[in-house]
Amino acid sequence: MSYLVLARKSRPQNFAQVVGQQHIVRTLQNALLRSRVPHALIFSGVRGTGKTTLARIMAKALNCESGQPPEPCCSCRSCKEIAAGSSVDLHEIDGASNRGIQEIRELKENIRFMPVMSRFKIIIIDEVHMLTTEAFNALLKTLEEPPSHVYFMFATTELHKVPVTILSRCQRYELKRVGSKELAAHFARLAESEGITMEPAALNMVVRAAGGSVRDGLSLLDQLFSYCGEQVAAADAAEVLGMVGGDVIAGTAKALLAHDLAAALERLETVTRSGMDLKRFINELLAWFRSLVVCAVSKDPAQLLDLPADELALLQETAASHSAQSLFLLFTLLMDSLEKAAWSSRPRFAVEMAFIRAVQAEDVVPVTELLGRLDSILAGTPLPQAAEPMPLYEKKKTVIAESKPPEPAPARPTVELPSAPPMPEEPPHLAEQHQPAPKAAAGGRDIRKDWPDFIKSVKKPWIASALSKAASANLENGKLILSYHDSAECSTLKIKEQFAELTALASDFFQESLRVVFDEPRACGLPTESGGGADAVRKERQALANDPLVLMAAEIFNGQVSDIRIGAQYRKPLAAAEEAADESDEA
Ligand SMILES: [Zn+2]
Repeated sequence: MSYLVLARKSRPQNFAQVVGQQHIVRTLQNALLRSRVPHALIFSGVRGTGKTTLARIMAKALNCESGQPPEPCCSCRSCKEIAAGSSVDLHEIDGASNRGIQEIRELKENIRFMPVMSRFKIIIIDEVHMLTTEAFNALLKTLEEPPSHVYFMFATTELHKVPVTILSRCQRYELKRVGSKELAAHFARLAESEGITMEPAALNMVVRAAGGSVRDGLSLLDQLFSYCGEQVAAADAAEVLGMVGGDVIAGTAKALLAHDLAAALERLETVTRSGMDLKRFINELLAWFRSLVVCAVSKDPAQLLDLPADELALLQETAASHSAQSLFLLFTLLMDSLEKAAWSSRPRFAVEMAFIRAVQAEDVVPVTELLGRLDSILAGTPLPQAAEPMPLYEKKKTVIAESKPPEPAPARPTVELPSAPPMPEEPPHLAEQHQPAPKAAAGGRDIRKDWPDFIKSVKKPWIASALSKAASANLENGKLILSYHDSAECSTLKIKEQFAELTALASDFFQESLRVVFDEPRACGLPTESGGGADAVRKERQALANDPLVLMAAEIFNGQVSDIRIGAQYRKPLAAAEEAADESDEA
């Protein structure tokens, strides 16, 4: 008894049976209903998504003798002949083996004659991109003015290899990879019709391995069914498909996120023992991390991730307990080292190295959060309890310096800087930027209450106006430190005369010999010599890296500055990962 493979047995015979590709089915059916089917169609997409299947269904629908226009009847003579592959008016040509000009000449000769039995002659050329240039040229003339009794249907996995002159004469249909849910439902139906029960985990594995291709999935099911008989267990599926269960991938990711190298290596051992291709494991692990990042930054990850509900729930749970920055950094790190592993002659060693690097990567804490903690420490108040308790001193932290938020921040606690060496008088606002990190922290004089009175006492309106725009003002060690979010707001004050006047006024008012110092987000008020662009960005980064606050935060929390991100999107604590990628490319 001959066994008919599933791919043959389950091939869709009409539009209703097509798995996925709803958008294309609808367009084709509309064209049929309105009798506006173009005489040349080209179906493109990855293998096993139904290109030639759709072409054959179209052929049936065009030549059907009794069916309703948008759907072939599958029971008339024409439909039956097409299904059996015996229709004299349907020519199926494999472009890979009949690629020369001679074949196309013969074809052209053939289509000069009217169809024998049906309304139309249908020419299906599979893998049309394989035709030679001469063959394409010969075909082109026919496509320019196709005879009204002929329809051409082309299929290709490599649309970019088809000459534009041909493409411009065809209506194009791009088939998508079939979604996991549709594949799972389709495979489950097939298993049921074969009288086979499959464990859900086994079904999920087939769907994952199919990668959006119905045909690939079907041939895997064939293997499984003949190996397992009537019961397909997850363990059998893992063995036959050379895969590991989704739980191993999720477990590896969890171990890496928890900096647990031993657990991650154990999972790798499981993978190696199961005989799973390491390259596939790497791909699945990367895909898992990508999904984690998407879960962390997207409000509706289900839209972006084509995954079963239970996997999605697990991803969201994991993503919720890590910062988006941590996930993103780990993802890029693994991406780098695992890509190399995939091509290495000792992939296992390379994966192990990648894991070691990954567990050594430190958690990322945005500097705004660190500053919040710093505020609490300096104010002597207990730290607010974070959702996930973060060890303050046990672990090294990676600090991301961010641009200061645009909205006015509350006045920072005043921190006493180490007594600075005598500063040259000319550029007072430059001096502050390259201070060494302060060692001791103590309170300065709180002038918040006096500040409005001081502004009132200033008679010159432009000085008063510029002073009122300061985000904060602090007195410490004989310095009046004025913080601005925007350098433009204090530029008036830096003009020599105004500066001298302001210094005198402040010294009089606060009864102390003072030096005025500006604290700005931009590169310390330097006129931009090159006029901005990359240079300005570099300066801003430099200024941020040397910002005493950042250095202090890093020192207090025993961390290091790993990354500086500037730009509007980083003023919010969580930015989209894609944007972050752009940003780091720029750097
Ligand atoms: Zn029919």
